[in-house]
Amino acid sequence: MPGGSASKTSTPQVRVRFAPSPTGYLHVGGARTALYNWLFARHENGVFILRIEDTDAERSTDESAAGILEAMRWLGLHWDEGPEVGGPVGPYRQAERLDLYREYAQKLLDDGKAYYCICTPEELEGRRKAALAAGLSTKYDGRCWQRGNRQPGPLQRPGVGGAWGAVVRLLIRDGGGIEIADLVHGPIRFEDADLDDFILLRSDGMPTYNFAVVVDDVLMGITHVIRGDDHISNTPRQLKVYEALGLPIPRFAHIPMILGPDRSRLSKRHGATGVMAYQQMGYLPEAMVNYLARLGWSHGDQEIFTQEELVRHFTLEKVGRTAAVFDPVKLEWLNGQYLRQAAPDRLVALLRPFWEASGVRREELRRKDDAWLQAVARLFQDRARTLAEIASSSRFVFEEKIERDEVAVRKVLTEGAKARVAALLPEIEALPTFTAAALESLFRTRAAALGLKLVDLAQPFRVALSGKTVSPPIFRIMELLGWNLVRRRLEEALKEEG
Ligand code: GLU
Repeated sequence: MPGGSASKTSTPQVRVRFAPSPTGYLHVGGARTALYNWLFARHENGVFILRIEDTDAERSTDESAAGILEAMRWLGLHWDEGPEVGGPVGPYRQAERLDLYREYAQKLLDDGKAYYCICTPEELEGRRKAALAAGLSTKYDGRCWQRGNRQPGPLQRPGVGGAWGAVVRLLIRDGGGIEIADLVHGPIRFEDADLDDFILLRSDGMPTYNFAVVVDDVLMGITHVIRGDDHISNTPRQLKVYEALGLPIPRFAHIPMILGPDRSRLSKRHGATGVMAYQQMGYLPEAMVNYLARLGWSHGDQEIFTQEELVRHFTLEKVGRTAAVFDPVKLEWLNGQYLRQAAPDRLVALLRPFWEASGVRREELRRKDDAWLQAVARLFQDRARTLAEIASSSRFVFEEKIERDEVAVRKVLTEGAKARVAALLPEIEALPTFTAAALESLFRTRAAALGLKLVDLAQPFRVALSGKTVSPPIFRIMELLGWNLVRRRLEEALKEEG
């Protein structure tokens, strides 16, 4: 290629990351951050990296890391890169990269941009209190830099074992400040005067968040840092690490927080906040993804998006600057929309655990063939908003004996109604085929002859067969149950005390 002009004009490939700390489950806010990173990467034909930030050994657990991966997979947010750990690429884990952080800290020490600090926590606390009492700044006073703790090679603090007895601090030189062009918030200015010589490596050799995050973002070639705007206050420290390393800074996009309906930060008080809790309540991942995508981002008035449409339309420019309010009712509505579109075989597979949880016995489920189960799912999928709701509202079609709602029985199964049910039984039995269409036409003719509305004739059958006053179309229910069960249930209802 002449002159290699392609490499001059081409922009570097977009590389983004989601970097959760495994200190709990993946919550709705984290999932949205992950999704925006993923969508941005897919939209830009870039790379999406998952990095588990587990350097805080006390608060991180393997269980929560596994839970986060499970939730990411459930949402379909697959990551592109990571160390090969016998199979698919694993996510990166900071705890496996400690040497790298130490190497970079050493580099900064060698360059005179960082120094060892041997002040003990007690000394620091004492000085902080004294400064507070005197009305002075509580920032670290740079004492160990002035003491000359600049030698490369670890210092040993008396009484503390291990090679990393001292902490490593970054030397902050007041250069005034820096402004970043945040892709969501616009220009944000940070003043150096607000910063002190913060810690890069703790005395046990573990990196601090602000240091590890930069080393990794550099090594992983991250071009855009997309994260919650609760991290804006960390950004100036991270910028100082880039500056000290002499490396270009990535673009930043700080996305606004998610609030509860009362406009306080979304928390357990507002209901479920864990992504997998929604799976357990019977939400579909595509509904969750669609909902989270729209929580702070928009594309005109469109509410329902296929995954392909989200990828096509997603840009950071259209992420709003103000906090989004989590609306469980809208999420439920969206889930209902997706449930109506779900293929019956998928629905049945998803519904099995929900049927069992609602009390349908496993043997009962095993006895039914797939076509029948799919017919049940199809019949109930139109009204429900969750899988759990489909399961509980359809439970009666599995049961040999049902419980009937007392109020419904008293109101609907009156003596007159029972007489009409009894009169219709032989006519139903005489039908050449026991189908919804044949039943409907019989009921229409009978209702007309009796001078009744169809619903008045059908309602006692609904209560007798389902135990409730509301159900999907009753003729289709009858066809599903089959004549034998219908007859048994009707005869039993006729004996019920009104
Ligand atoms: N581990 C940090 C968190 O979970 C990541 C922040 C970042 O994306 O820089 O909040």
